[in-house]
Amino acid sequence: MADIQSNLETLSAKDDNSMIREAGTEIETQEKTSNTPEKVIYCAVSVDGDLRVGSQVQQKEGVRAMHQAHAELGILGCTSWLINENDFRWTEYHPEMLLELAESGECIGVHDHLDTQYLEDKPYDRIYEFLSISRYRLHDFYVRAGLNVPIFVHRNGCAHQGREIYRALDLMEYTILSDVWPGMKWYSRMVLTEHPIQHWKSLEDEGDPDAIFTDNSQIPLSAAPWRHDADNWLDVNSRSGRFLQAPITCLPWVDQARVQTAVENSGQQVFLVIDTHPYNLQNPETGDVSARLVEDYRNSLGWIRDTYHAIFIRIDQIPRLMTIEHKNKKMEYTL
Ligand SMILES: [Zn+2]
Repeated sequence: MADIQSNLETLSAKDDNSMIREAGTEIETQEKTSNTPEKVIYCAVSVDGDLRVGSQVQQKEGVRAMHQAHAELGILGCTSWLINENDFRWTEYHPEMLLELAESGECIGVHDHLDTQYLEDKPYDRIYEFLSISRYRLHDFYVRAGLNVPIFVHRNGCAHQGREIYRALDLMEYTILSDVWPGMKWYSRMVLTEHPIQHWKSLEDEGDPDAIFTDNSQIPLSAAPWRHDADNWLDVNSRSGRFLQAPITCLPWVDQARVQTAVENSGQQVFLVIDTHPYNLQNPETGDVSARLVEDYRNSLGWIRDTYHAIFIRIDQIPRLMTIEHKNKKMEYTL
């Protein structure tokens, strides 16, 4: 805890602007030392707040272990936590965690699993009703705590995508989304089970009639974040629209091959998005935090930092970090 505290004190002094100034300094330094400017690699660690494994005490330990791992890497205040309030009621069962995350400067967003309620194909007004509940509860929680926590980042459960979902999100305050998983196609749905440790399971079998199919196989891994509206979320060359889509590079662990491919094929700015969960640090058989998994996780982020001099950022910083050229330019992508 002492480490967390000292990091909190150091990092709480940093505001958004200081992070961006630091990022800008890094770019200038790199440009001065080389005729060919090196790529600038940003890494946005995003944690989906599904607390699927173990008791509530073990779930808290999973969250704390992840927060602690970030503290040890020196990236507190540079990560994003997308809270699944609808399924796991953080405001009720884990209020102290929500306060710790906000106080350490993390970006707070929302992770809604429409699939647990079989809402993914419902009309947008029904979806809106569901999405409004989680956002209202989180917003209200922070207002009552006296904290100003803007909430405008959203990720759907199982990275699902759909026009009605985006029509509903368009009526809300969300402007940054992170659902598209380049190069992948998958079946998924999260459902409750009777298992004493693994309370939920994923339906990933293509033969399961309840599993939802998503196809992002035509999206290049090197695609830079793009703007879009409710209908065109897969148009990587779209440069206007309500939402900024920050595609997921790796899920649920750092995948070195995918990171390498993304970096090699991207333009001068590279935005890596890592999508992980606190339960990825818990032993799936006992629910306890696994020291080995924590070490693997810490090492994997350390690898990105050391290999690419990556700058860790919150997802909500991406729009301000993207250069004008990057925002306007249509890229030539290859799969
Ligand atoms: Zn999820």
